[in-house]
Formats: sequence, C-alpha cells, structure tokens
Amino acid sequence: MVRAIFPGSFDPIHYGHIDIALRAARLFDEVIIAVYDRPLKNALFSPEERLALVHQTFVDNKIISIRGYSGLTVEFCREVGAQVVVRGLRVFSDFEHEFRMALANHHLAPDVETIALITSEDHTFLSSTTVREIASLNGDIRAMVPPFVAKALQEKYGDMDDQIKNQSMTSLRD
Ligand code: ADP
Repeated sequence: MVRAIFPGSFDPIHYGHIDIALRAARLFDEVIIAVYDRPLKNALFSPEERLALVHQTFVDNKIISIRGYSGLTVEFCREVGAQVVVRGLRVFSDFEHEFRMALANHHLAPDVETIALITSEDHTFLSSTTVREIASLNGDIRAMVPPFVAKALQEKYGDMDDQIKNQSMTSLRD
C-alpha cells in the first residue's frame, strides 16, 4: 500500500493543483492533500478557508483525503505513514526550487521519496498568485478554478478596499 501526500499552501486551489492530485490518485493507493495550515504572510485565505475549499473540491473522491499540517513536510509524512511526496512542475524556474526541497527532504528523511508530475499543457501558466491577481482585477477566472472557488474569490475581493487589494499585485495590469 503506497500512501502519498501532496503538500502546498493552496491559496486558493486551482485546476493545476486538481489535475496533479487526480493524476496522483491514479498512481497511489491513497493521496492526502496536505494544506499548510499556518497563517502565511501574503495569503489571501485563512488556513480554515483554504482547507474548506480543498475539501469541497474532493468531497466525493475515495482515494483523496485532506489534512492541515504545520511544521516539516517530512514530519507530517511520518505522522500519517506516507512514503511519497507529490509535487507539480510547471516551468524551469519551479525545477530549481523543487530540486532543492527534494534534496533537503531526502536528507531529513531518506525513506520518503519525492515524485514530481509535469503539469498538463493547459495549466502551465496557472498559479494561485495569477488566479488571485486576475480575480482582484475582476478578470474571468472560470477556466482556472471551480465555481465555488471563483465565488469565494469574488466575495473576498468584494469586501476589500482597493489599497489592500493592490498590495503586491502589479504584473498583469499593463
Ligand atoms: P507552494 O506553496 O509551494 O507555492 P502551491 O500551494 O501553490 O505551492 O502548490 C502546491 C503544489 O502544486 C506545488 O508542487 C506546485 O508546484 C504545484 N502546482 C501549482 N500550480 C500548478 C500547475 N499549474 N500545474 C502543476 N502543478 C502545480
């Protein structure tokens, strides 16, 4: 029995994450989506909100379950008895980061393997940052996130004043 975790911040979950999770569920007996549940400095959604959106996404999936975690990913692997960490790779710049993380995790826990799945062509450009930025500018995100995530984004940005909304968002406006 091989149990894998798919860790990340999922702020918020989008179709790129969903694709990787579903593909991992075809490879492993159990996949736990591990949502980093400490408050993150630039996060839009609270840990509870991020967990709830991931939960809603996979509510009918028998192989995929959801857990929050904080602390080291390899410690969480030990806690839940997972042998594999799944990550997604989009572009070359992801590779360097993932490569370093995988080596560090292997150093800490040689019995845990990291497996990286290459993104599907349609999702190459998708990241939570891009989704948040487009949503904050009232762009169309329907092809990027499930409808309930789009709604949560609309509600978040609807309540936010422009000054807060504009912080750290500059790349898609020109
Ligand atoms: P992080 O917090 O490390 O930035 P995220 O929470 O955004 O990660 O994503 C979790 C995992 O999903 C990471 O391995 C990331 O590379 C992967 N991922 C994010 N977007 C995509 C995508 N469009 N296609 C494939 N994998 C992706």
